[in-house]
Amino acid sequence: MLNFSFQNTTKILFGEGQIQAISQAIPKDAKVLVTYGGGSIKTNGVYDQITAALSEHTWFEFSGIEPNPSYETLMKALDPIREHGIDFLLAVGGGSVVDGTKFIAAAAVFEGDDPWDFVAKGQPITKALPLACVLTLPATGSESNIGAVVTRDGNKLPFSSPLVRPLFAVLDPAVTLSLSDRQISNGVVDAFIHTMEQYLTYSVNGKVQDRFAEGLLLTLIEEGPKALAVETKNDLAIRGNIMWAATMALNGLIGSGVPQDWSTHMIAHELTGAYGIDHARTLSIVLPAVMKVRKEAKREKLLQYAERIWGLTDGDEESRIQRAIELTEQFFTAMQVPTRLSHVDLGEAAIDGLIAKLTQHGMVKLGEQKAITPEISREILIAAL
Ligand code: NAP
Ligand code: FE
Repeated sequence: MLNFSFQNTTKILFGEGQIQAISQAIPKDAKVLVTYGGGSIKTNGVYDQITAALSEHTWFEFSGIEPNPSYETLMKALDPIREHGIDFLLAVGGGSVVDGTKFIAAAAVFEGDDPWDFVAKGQPITKALPLACVLTLPATGSESNIGAVVTRDGNKLPFSSPLVRPLFAVLDPAVTLSLSDRQISNGVVDAFIHTMEQYLTYSVNGKVQDRFAEGLLLTLIEEGPKALAVETKNDLAIRGNIMWAATMALNGLIGSGVPQDWSTHMIAHELTGAYGIDHARTLSIVLPAVMKVRKEAKREKLLQYAERIWGLTDGDEESRIQRAIELTEQFFTAMQVPTRLSHVDLGEAAIDGLIAKLTQHGMVKLGEQKAITPEISREILIAAL
């Protein structure tokens, strides 16, 4: 196992009815800005629960944070923050609202010229407003991690800082019942691929991390399709397991002391940046191709994955690996997400532009061994055709 330090300070408030706990969790004298997206919280009752819970607080709201949140939208939140002297942010929504609010938290007190600099130029974040969240879409893990992804002019880029980790996260599985099948699928697949990016690398004998990761993968494979099936889709136990799995998949725990890949995410971000395709639906296209192209580098872990996740012990190594990749694709298909560029109407003509963007964004040494050059990214995209 590699050396690591691990600390996750986000307090998790899990379970039905937990939104009311925010009345105690947010300081009474705080001036709160509640941030949210396109209005799903107004139709599913979450906004009313927030209003009730904040009845003794001074609070304002900022709405319109879109999926794949944009710099332009997020910068608009700085006006109400200054106008009302906001000193606490409460994000209510999915990963986009939480990520966007992380950007707002750092941008609001940024001392440089343009907050985009801490995204595009890696300028360090030295302070941020405190933030917390009520999660409505299990997927990204953003509710208890230090990362975020924002988009400006088609450039979708990540940033991270411990200063933007939410202080607390409410995880109420009941609020996920209003999600569309598409968003459920997206969430399960994003969480699955977060786990894979920290698991399917090379072995450093991190047995605890491996078995945590395998537990999450098995849970998502077992519960994901049930959350889409008519008979079981409203089962709160299923929703709860998916929600907790998605948080655990990217809260720092399974990635501590092991190599991490993230090439699938970085290549997939270019597909969202250029074509606006949902985050998870780009990942499900790229991951099988990464597994194929990086088969040799990932051989030992692919065999472990084949055996422990899919029960494959018969046949030679090559056929077990191939079968494990096929079964991964079948799981994605069962979750109703695409697995090829052709499924989203993209062909070879798209690849040059995607490689140019990856290069422009400095994504030229990707993967756990930093071995994925733009040429290998090209091979991956060709394998995804
Ligand atoms: P999302 O973009 O936050 O939300 C997708 C859609 O779901 C929105 O239209 C939203 O509507 C709707 N929605 C959310 N909760 C709902 C509910 N309970 N009922 C009905 N509709 C609901 O989706 P996401 O997958 O959670 O986030 C994706 C973003 O996170 C991407 O930008 C991705 O790159 C990023 N990401 C971040 C991390 C990280 O570690 N920080 C990791 C992976 C991905 P409203 O707008 O109306 O709420
Ligand atoms: Fe993701």
